[in-house]
Amino acid sequence: MSTRRHPVTMPRRTHPDEPPRQVAVVGGGVAGLSTAWFLQEHGVEVAVFEGDHVGAGASWGNAGWLTPALTTPLPEPAVLRYGLRTALRPSSPVYVPIRPDLRLWRFLAGFVRHCTGARWRAGMAAYAPINRLALDAFDQLVEAGAVPAPQPATPFLACYRTPRERETLVEELLAIRRSQPVDFELLTGEQARASEPALSAEVGAAIRLHQQRFVNPPQLVAALADSVRSRGAKLREGVRVSEVRDDGPSVLLTDALGGRHRFDAVVLATGAALGDLARPFGVRRLVQAGRGYSFSVRCRDLPRGPVYFPAQRVACTPLQTPQGPRLRVAGMMEFRAPGEPLDPRRIEAIVAAVRPLLDGAELDDRLDEWVGSRPCTADGLPLVGATASPRVFTAGGHGMWGVVLGPVSGRLLAEQVVTGRRPAELAAFDPMR
Ligand SMILES: Cc1cc2nc3c(=O)[nH]c(=O)nc-3n(C[C@H](O)[C@H](O)[C@H](O)COP(=O)(O)OP(=O)(O)OC[C@H]3O[C@@H](n4cnc5c(N)ncnc54)[C@H](O)[C@@H]3O)c2cc1C
Repeated sequence: MSTRRHPVTMPRRTHPDEPPRQVAVVGGGVAGLSTAWFLQEHGVEVAVFEGDHVGAGASWGNAGWLTPALTTPLPEPAVLRYGLRTALRPSSPVYVPIRPDLRLWRFLAGFVRHCTGARWRAGMAAYAPINRLALDAFDQLVEAGAVPAPQPATPFLACYRTPRERETLVEELLAIRRSQPVDFELLTGEQARASEPALSAEVGAAIRLHQQRFVNPPQLVAALADSVRSRGAKLREGVRVSEVRDDGPSVLLTDALGGRHRFDAVVLATGAALGDLARPFGVRRLVQAGRGYSFSVRCRDLPRGPVYFPAQRVACTPLQTPQGPRLRVAGMMEFRAPGEPLDPRRIEAIVAAVRPLLDGAELDDRLDEWVGSRPCTADGLPLVGATASPRVFTAGGHGMWGVVLGPVSGRLLAEQVVTGRRPAELAAFDPMR
């Protein structure tokens, strides 16, 4: 398509040392929309390019937990012990298809290298400072009327068949407590059931975590998009960006239809596809899709707060949906390409895992069966900051924790884009590491 039919709009910045005035954000998930919102706080004019529709990626069907107490690097010794050992079975909560996919095996080799106690502790030390700010960034959005207030997770229960099964998470929480505050108590099965009657008699032990929250993910993304739009951003859905070029004082985006768009700077927030546009700017860290599944069911006794079954790696969250109050049931970590179709065996595996543990959940009457890709990095740390180009930034790679960390990452990154100075909390998440 000729450039005549797609005139290139020029940014208004007149001097290269000035803060950028017009910034493009590529990707309309929590990471991109949060960054757009906080850029607007600095008076920046923003355009969001979303290849599909807002919330088309992982930001829609996730569990919506705002749980800084659990926000830790994914690679850890326990994943090797319990996860990868069974990873080749389609019913396993962590699934790796056997394929001659060099990129995937490179990612897995890096991931396994990070599954040591020492690397996990280093990762945890990197997470603690940003975890401390995570809920505050949500509060800022709520106070500005941008998003609905998150709900207090009262209770938040992690449930097990036996006290023995519980030991792994108890040990982990004690280890997390060395880096940040974590408040929890141990419950018997009866105590857990008294709190959440939906738990079956199979639940023999639980952990109650305090001071956590949760959101309704579809509502969160829709509200953020509305807010960004109402503050003057152009939100261009259905416009996939195929190329980004640093053209000296500005960046040039080309979309899949040949349209060209010029900005002072660009933030790449394309979720599991982050590597495609970021690699030409020196970002070598692989971003691998860790696909997760979810669906929603009606419950006789809808849990009041999130319910976690760590041994089954299943997360449940009560949500208000257009069909009324339902329980979202989410799980699985499937290392496959983001665009591959939903595999019904994974949904069945989640159903089989939770059926004995929940009473009165209509698990055979499911709505909203969904698959989405967590943007995972091998070291378990996000990629938030400047690339080799001073005009190209990344906001992503949050893996399991892009909702709780999306707003705080957006706030810190917006500060870096505008001031040119990197906030200390982002040092460990340097995309060029
Ligand atoms: C089952 C499951 C449960 C989860 N539970 C939680 C939880 O409880 N708490 C939590 O904090 N996190 C959770 N997560 C993780 C969280 O969902 C993700 O980390 C987060 O949504 C990632 O947000 P993002 O904006 O980086 O990516 P996405 O939401 O994937 O957004 C990326 C967007 O970019 C668009 N895009 C891609 N390429 C292009 C392009 N070239 N041009 C234009 N647009 C493009 C896509 O269409 C997409 O809309 C969960 C994830 C899953 C799968």
